[in-house]
Amino acid sequence: MNNVIDGLTPEPLWRYFAELSAIPRGSKHEEKASAYVAGVATRLGLESQTDACGNVVVRKTAATGCEGAPGIVIQGHLDMVCEKNDGTVHDFDRDPIVLRRQGNAIAATGTTLGADDGIGVAIGLALMENCPVAHGPLEFLFTVDEETGLTGANNLGAGFLQSRILINLDSEEEGVLCVGCAGGMDTRGVVPVAFEPLPADHRLFLLKTSGLRGGHSGLDIHRGRGNAIKLLNRALRDLAAGGARLIAIEGGNKRNAIPREASAIIALPETSIGKVEQKVKNCAALYKAEFAVTDPGIELTLEKLQSGKKSVIRQAHAAALMNLLSVMPHGVVAMNGAIPGLVETSANLARVSTTEDALVVETSQRSMVESEKADIVATVCAAFGLIGASVSHGDGYSAWRPDLTSPILKTAQAVYRRKFGKDPVVKAIHAGLECGIIGDKFLGMDMLSMGPTLEMVHSPAERVPIDSVERVWEFLVAVIETVGKGKID
Ligand SMILES: [Zn+2]
Repeated sequence: MNNVIDGLTPEPLWRYFAELSAIPRGSKHEEKASAYVAGVATRLGLESQTDACGNVVVRKTAATGCEGAPGIVIQGHLDMVCEKNDGTVHDFDRDPIVLRRQGNAIAATGTTLGADDGIGVAIGLALMENCPVAHGPLEFLFTVDEETGLTGANNLGAGFLQSRILINLDSEEEGVLCVGCAGGMDTRGVVPVAFEPLPADHRLFLLKTSGLRGGHSGLDIHRGRGNAIKLLNRALRDLAAGGARLIAIEGGNKRNAIPREASAIIALPETSIGKVEQKVKNCAALYKAEFAVTDPGIELTLEKLQSGKKSVIRQAHAAALMNLLSVMPHGVVAMNGAIPGLVETSANLARVSTTEDALVVETSQRSMVESEKADIVATVCAAFGLIGASVSHGDGYSAWRPDLTSPILKTAQAVYRRKFGKDPVVKAIHAGLECGIIGDKFLGMDMLSMGPTLEMVHSPAERVPIDSVERVWEFLVAVIETVGKGKID
């Protein structure tokens, strides 16, 4: 395998990346990777600490003359997403990732590469071995389970880090400095419903919305795509006014995805079937026209069902459910004032399902600002409260509010301009990052997230361009040197 990385620079960085790639480290199975980085620290004579969940911190004292400089935490996550191509034989609990050279890039062979965030980890390890410039005290933080629960960041103990500057290496676009992320909360409501016998002259139908684009509930929420549940409910309300009765409703998939499909079992009086069919056609045409640009594949269909359902939801309850789905917030609530195009606060009506005696509605809320997150969560709770639903929440995670006056940002911007002769892009993302949680735990932490370009992350086509890694290394080292020499803004 070593000939894949032969000749690549900086040599230690690629050597560590290759060694790490040989260690299975799917999310929640990072024990060997934690032991590996702690082992590297021991071999290099550096002090390290591993906590109960597997996070590791390694400390490197300042270079001579830089003892008074502010400390920096260099952070990456140890776990990786495990995806493989159909037909690839690979056991992610045991087999090493098989690296390949593809021109200017490194890829895996039929599996995810794990450069997200193995490259960040390798940069940290290489700096542990040799930071080639004047530097203040450095801490290297390696977290576990970023991908499936942010568990490592969530379990960091209060005294684990001493420095108050943190550079996270989990961003995937060279030339972009990320300075903020959204906090999030899941909110679930359970609405009791009662049934009554299906009227004799009624026939069963399935009303369905499908063909929508969906997408990530944070990163895609501003794209104006349809919500399959909202659009289904809009048609349902219309049909209910014409005598349709509701039996069950299902829609959505993951809480962090915009729902692409939803369906309702309804009962129609025989005499109204023709009229309803026409209404559905009209409504479908309306949706097509409304979403012609943002979600053109959208379909609304009505199909006859044979099944033997014997009861319908009581009319008053069905009306209340439809009202609930109508007022439930979905989409962009506010845009950020400082960073153009950045969504500040949003909500996703993610999933609905009907049980024997209840309707379950699952939603998620996000904001770049904690107080606004609390407010949109309260708004969703208020909607549930209108019809007496019982409400529960997930654990939630904190926002990292963009601060364009951050000293580490200003330093990094100045270094970037000096090295590359242009301005870096300053961005924040409307999704969760470990920085949100870390900033909440370590008050006053001045943070920045960056990294080399990674292509097709979380898929077997994942690749990392070699030259991007080299440039990001040089840039990071220059930032460390600037801070080490006390030249921070
Ligand atoms: Zn990552």
